[in-house]
Amino acid sequence: MSLHEQIDREIEEKQNWALRRQLEIPNNKRLWVLACMDERLPVEKALGIGEGDAHIFRNAGGLVTDDAIRSAMLTTQFFGTKEIIVINHTECGMMTASGDFLTQALKEQGIDVDEVIIDPALPDLKLPRGVFSTWIKTFTDVDAITDKQVELLRSSPLIPDDVVIHGYIWEVETQNLRRPYERLSEKVNTAEAMGAKTHSA
Ligand SMILES: [Zn+2]
Repeated sequence: MSLHEQIDREIEEKQNWALRRQLEIPNNKRLWVLACMDERLPVEKALGIGEGDAHIFRNAGGLVTDDAIRSAMLTTQFFGTKEIIVINHTECGMMTASGDFLTQALKEQGIDVDEVIIDPALPDLKLPRGVFSTWIKTFTDVDAITDKQVELLRSSPLIPDDVVIHGYIWEVETQNLRRPYERLSEKVNTAEAMGAKTHSA
């Protein structure tokens, strides 16, 4: 290939990259990821993906919220996404305090949580009284919360039924992904957990 052909090809590739949405090109893996914002969770590394491979949505906890549903709806209904992966993680900050505790802390700062506007662009959108602490969405069990997020996404009428949805847990202590309720490390420390054979056949 002569140099000008190579340059022209690179220009074209960059134009296609910039105009992906207009050209209706989906992300490379047709993937939407919902993950916690925690800095110890390297989403691309965890999934073995690179630039251009996925739409990635991150929030506190990696939880299904109204804006997560909004983004999932857009990517699956209009941008060609066919798969969703949820990643929650061990030692998540959302397990360090209850919603009631955090709500009380805000009240002590003089914030009226029952009147607060939760979306400044939609000031009419208000939480019913007493719902604020639930809205924060703290949780107590990372395995249960991962399963729950998958269930919530599957049950949303805004996400097509043929979208494949799975959830994983990133172990910050081992830097590995695992499936919910598959805590491998607990299975290797005692003979009992290893299912040791104690009677000869
Ligand atoms: Zn987290």
